[in-house]
Amino acid sequence: AAAAAVQTFWQWLSDQDVVSAKTPAKPGLVPQGLGLVAQRDISRNEVVLEIPKKLWINPDVVAASEIGNACSGLKPWVSVALFLIREKFKEDSTWRPYLDVLPESTNSTIFWSEEELAELQGTQLLSTTLGVKSYLQREFLKVEEEILVPHKQLFTSPVTLDDFSWAFGILRSRSFSRLRGQNLVLIPLADLVNHSPDITIEDGVYEIKGAGLFSRDLIFSLRSPISLKAGEQVLIQYNLNMSNAELAVDYGFIEAKSDRNMYTLTLQISESDPFFGDKLDIAETNGLGEIADFDIVLGNPLPPTLLPYLRLVALGGTDVFLLESIFRNTIWGHLELPVSPANEELICRVVRDACKSALSGYHTTIEEDEKLKRKELNPRLEIAVGIRAEEKKVLQQIDEIFKQRQSELDELEYYQERRLKDLGLVGEQGEIIFWESK
Ligand code: SAM
Repeated sequence: AAAAAVQTFWQWLSDQDVVSAKTPAKPGLVPQGLGLVAQRDISRNEVVLEIPKKLWINPDVVAASEIGNACSGLKPWVSVALFLIREKFKEDSTWRPYLDVLPESTNSTIFWSEEELAELQGTQLLSTTLGVKSYLQREFLKVEEEILVPHKQLFTSPVTLDDFSWAFGILRSRSFSRLRGQNLVLIPLADLVNHSPDITIEDGVYEIKGAGLFSRDLIFSLRSPISLKAGEQVLIQYNLNMSNAELAVDYGFIEAKSDRNMYTLTLQISESDPFFGDKLDIAETNGLGEIADFDIVLGNPLPPTLLPYLRLVALGGTDVFLLESIFRNTIWGHLELPVSPANEELICRVVRDACKSALSGYHTTIEEDEKLKRKELNPRLEIAVGIRAEEKKVLQQIDEIFKQRQSELDELEYYQERRLKDLGLVGEQGEIIFWESK
């Protein structure tokens, strides 16, 4: 059935002169579902496809369609989602051959069952996924009220939350990274290209350009980032900057590379802090806020603003003089280094407690996950096991860093000593210098 749909799709593209026997790549069945397969040897940077604008699906296409008026003012993705759903319902849609090659779902965590999601217990990926699902629910309720109910006659069957989530999943997994948000566009055929972790070049692989000297049309052109032999699959790097959790939500796969593994520490200046106002002012002056997220990457050093922010949040007791306005221009510099033993000890304890509490929320150990990883797992379980193992490793890494710090508290140099040194009152060996009084 898939093969027949691909055949019809190709014929549809040929009929519109988008492809021909000379097109270097053709859709085919591959391990990742459908993909693009080289029809002949392809050299590095060679153009493999050119898709003219008449085939793209973007908010302009929606605006010019029968639902254009109803959808004006919607977010780009919501309007394209409604368009896709409506065309999918229409037996005689002009987009039929394209719609028939789109997958019913992917392994994105937004499509997982309760039981599958249970494998993500304790993970940040689970909260992200639930967050996305509740966003979808809210957007759907709005769309129902504002579009679907008042314009019932535009849709041949009732649109459900499942239809809406399907369209969202299609758009997240098939739009190219620079063509999202306001530039959202679906490019049939080009959207069959799969991702390879081995390709580390992301730039210059696709571009939108003029169709030619005598044409005002635009085309989307896709190049192969590596040379290929006939029969090999055309693959690209989707996005070098996405974490595994982001890949899991958008595409339904993760990579084995450790720097894709991230844990986000969220810190906050408490509103009940007696120095809330001063601390917030200092944080904002330095590009942070009342709440600050710090992405910690496995195997990488801590983000440089984490320690100063932690010290600021924890500042209290005899250190609060640093919050006075005369220090406002220099305070951040002071916070970049240890402030006092009490302050440094507190930040270590707070972070370690947070790590331990997060670690206790998972239902498996790293060892159990590693053992599972060696088995043949279904793709969703493989994602769950990978994510929960790596999140725990990041948490352990953070805990380890602060455990180390905690053991070095006596050896660190604090604000008061630095100050004495600056004033020339302490020698290089730390001895206090006294003046001989005459
Ligand atoms: N394979 C898709 C299809 O059958 O329609 C075409 C590519 S589409 C842009 C992106 C989707 O392809 C992803 O959401 C995922 O389902 C699949 N995919 C792409 N690269 C993959 C990879 N390296 N491993 C697993 N799945 C992949």
